[in-house]
Amino acid sequence: MQDLAGKPVIVRTYEAAKATNLFDEVYVVTDSEVIFQEIEANGGKAIMSQKEHDCGSDRIAEAVENMDIDIVVNVQGDEPFTSREGLEKVLAVFNEPDADKIDLASLMTEIHDWKEINDPNTVKVIVDKDNFALYFSRSPIPYPRDKNVDIQYYKHKGIYAFRKQAIMDFYRLSMRSLEAVEKIECIRYLEYGKNIKMAVSNTTGVEIDTPEDLVRANKLLKESKPDAVNNKFRNFPMVPKVVFGEGCFDQLTSILSSHKKEKAPFIFLVDDVFEKNNEFLDRINLRFNDKLIFISAEEEPKTSQVDDLVKDIKSEFTHTPSGIIGIGGGTVMDLAKAVSIMLINKGSAADYQGWDLVKQKAVYHVGIPTISGTGAEVSRTTVLTGPVRKLGINSDFTPFDQVILDPDLTIGVPKNQWFYTGMDCFIHCVESLNGTFLNAFSQSYGEKAYDLCLEIFLGDSLSEEESRAKLMMASWHGGMSIAYSQVGVAHAMSYGLGYVLGTKHGVGNCIVFQHLEEFYPNDVALFKKMVQKHNIEIPQGICKNLSKEQMDTMITVALGMVPLWENALGTDWEAIITPEKLKELYLRM
Ligand code: NAD
Ligand code: ZN
Repeated sequence: MQDLAGKPVIVRTYEAAKATNLFDEVYVVTDSEVIFQEIEANGGKAIMSQKEHDCGSDRIAEAVENMDIDIVVNVQGDEPFTSREGLEKVLAVFNEPDADKIDLASLMTEIHDWKEINDPNTVKVIVDKDNFALYFSRSPIPYPRDKNVDIQYYKHKGIYAFRKQAIMDFYRLSMRSLEAVEKIECIRYLEYGKNIKMAVSNTTGVEIDTPEDLVRANKLLKESKPDAVNNKFRNFPMVPKVVFGEGCFDQLTSILSSHKKEKAPFIFLVDDVFEKNNEFLDRINLRFNDKLIFISAEEEPKTSQVDDLVKDIKSEFTHTPSGIIGIGGGTVMDLAKAVSIMLINKGSAADYQGWDLVKQKAVYHVGIPTISGTGAEVSRTTVLTGPVRKLGINSDFTPFDQVILDPDLTIGVPKNQWFYTGMDCFIHCVESLNGTFLNAFSQSYGEKAYDLCLEIFLGDSLSEEESRAKLMMASWHGGMSIAYSQVGVAHAMSYGLGYVLGTKHGVGNCIVFQHLEEFYPNDVALFKKMVQKHNIEIPQGICKNLSKEQMDTMITVALGMVPLWENALGTDWEAIITPEKLKELYLRM
């Protein structure tokens, strides 16, 4: 019941076990009324054990006696840092060729520090050549008489996976002297000649046996807290593989082949603008049970749409897909990222809107943009409209594992749309370069993308081919620029339009941006020149007939984008952007 960063240790352990998503059920089995109530109060499941027990395994045996189960895993209550990786390893031994010899499995971690090897609170284990346990002890084992022999010491981790029969057998066996003297329960199994298979897991964590452990654990949790949104020093992943060049789309099949898992399909999410384009579809090359799903980009992607896609894929295929491949604009990029996350993480996509809420690595996902500007192909977010907000799923698992940049794929984009999406890139740069979060990292990407946009949209020297290739790279750099920064006023207001009127992101930004002279005077002037040069229509008067309620919602949604305002106007932004101010701006649009 000791506090660990605001929650009792046992609650943290329970939540960690549940969060692995490896189990059909997770229970806390306890003889303590206080613990029982704490778990239930936190929405967990607890079982009171009836009898007195000498050890945890006996208590679990009593609890599972009448349950219909194959394997039960005992996670000790002082293991709040229980990780999926360790539990997966301990379960995996039951799929190995010698599995029928195994009565139970447990985990061990390499240790190197003599202080730890000598510490009686650390239980050491030695194993045979097949990793079956030979003995457990609080003494250092083996004793290092010859200091020149290279020996690896292992510490035992208090996690056990039993076959049901094994745990019921052990329950009936009485304690013998080796167990009694060392106070290590798994010695009992060895004393009765049972086989304990040890798996190695080297993930760091702290078991909490002593008050000092608790102090260390609190420190560890503090350090691993997700970085604050505006944390100055972000540690973010980048797209690890990217291929660029006219026609490189034809490398898709070979790129995917090394990621193909048996029986697991690739799912292609493809913009429905390509639905009748057989020449293009033939290049996709579906194999085995691969599936192609056409996606309409008419509306902004929604969390419910992601949930439906995931549900359909799960009900059609028993195996988790080998990969998700998104082919289209920002809409399809974002859906592909979100679907790959939600195939692994439980619940609704709406539960993950925000910063760093995704806990499990997504399915392998590939982004193939067919229109340039959003930077969605490179960004760490997937923007979704949910039941209560329009907000990204911004996480380390969001970025694509692979991106294919083939400028030829953007050939058919209609002119207005080319401009709207291209301006998304221009506006990303303006907002990043004029923001208070700017640093040299963002600036170097932002300035390059900004210059490319001016060359493409105001210059006269580029061929169409050059222009397509450059816009693709501008989009990439614009996205990278925001990775270390943020967008600003136009995006915050465009989100409001999108939420209430369904205005699409690119055109929404343009509608807003032309009225933002007071924030970005030079760039709004340049923007107007570009509009004129390309003879682009930008819708007018779209907020004229809003009801009071709609206007209020629009303002609330826009004001909710706190990091954007902070970037644009600094920490005192609320003194500048009042609801009245926003209303006045919206009414001009
Ligand atoms: P889009 O994906 O909505 O597509 C716009 C239109 O272009 C659609 O009608 C589509 O069918 C068509 N199109 C796409 N490729 C085409 C082609 N090759 N030929 C002909 N038509 C084609 O447009 P977008 O501007 O790329 O994306 C907007 C979305 O991106 C918004 O939902 C926005 O929220 C999101 N976005 C995401 C990020 C991010 O970092 N995740 C950043 C910015 C924007
Ligand atoms: Zn944008």
